[in-house]
Amino acid sequence: MSDLFDLDGRVAVVTGGGRGIGRAIAIELANAGAAVVPSARSTDEIEAVAGEIRESGGDAVAVSADVTDSADVNDVIDRAAAEFGGVDVVVNNAGFNPDDALGRPEEVDTESLDRVLDVNLNGAYEVTHAAAAHLLESDGGSVINVASVGGLVGLPRQHPYVASKHGLVGLTKSMSLDWAPDVRVNAVAPGYVSTELTADLEENDRLRQSIVDRTPLDRFAEPSEIAGPVVFLASEAAGYVTGSVLAADGGWTAR
Ligand code: NAD
Repeated sequence: MSDLFDLDGRVAVVTGGGRGIGRAIAIELANAGAAVVPSARSTDEIEAVAGEIRESGGDAVAVSADVTDSADVNDVIDRAAAEFGGVDVVVNNAGFNPDDALGRPEEVDTESLDRVLDVNLNGAYEVTHAAAAHLLESDGGSVINVASVGGLVGLPRQHPYVASKHGLVGLTKSMSLDWAPDVRVNAVAPGYVSTELTADLEENDRLRQSIVDRTPLDRFAEPSEIAGPVVFLASEAAGYVTGSVLAADGGWTAR
């Protein structure tokens, strides 16, 4: 790998870092040389990811946290800084799209909307806010928000999720202005990726086929295919990239 993508000496916090896209991001950031703090609510999966990174010679410590709990969030940032001397990269990846938030507007109650916004949007804000002093002290501070194609276009029957991801894109653009030139703030917008979040969709032949038919690259992504763009955005290779949303969507939004 070229030095441009080298993250040696960087410290990265990855929320939702125990499985799916977050797990792939944690592992690829470590492969690029970063010390990584995978975080999620339960410990088993993040401990496994941290163990895997350490076994391959990297640095990692797992810290459990719910991104909607500010004491938890502060603890993750404090632990990352205490273990590795700072926080240079924050990847806001924790997110969900629960069944009770799926449906037409008249079918979804406002509590479901609130819960989705609380995790997907406010959670990202909490973590970034808690890490602000470290990011501003870093000579290469970078925030990467994992949005979605649902942050760029509407998707039927998913208005809470789409609202949260559009909000995350807005947060990305505004924060990039406030923190330039010190901290770069970007987002990735994945299309459909094979993870637990999309397992129900993939198991439904009709739905899976309609998604594949709508995707120019003709398939779901693997989680590692979202991790590559995140490593790029975290690295010097993206030194002039801020306020951008990198679609990793198999061409979904090119139509
Ligand atoms: P996943 O369900 O496999 O993983 C989500 C992770 O977020 C888990 O580790 C979970 O524990 C964590 N999480 C959820 N709520 C949390 C909370 N309150 N506090 C802390 N951690 C919490 O899902 P995934 O597919 O890997 O999704 C990761 C991100 O990518 C999400 O933000 C999702 O919206 C986004 N995304 C996924 C897809 C896809 O097709 N899978 C597409 C576009 C965007």
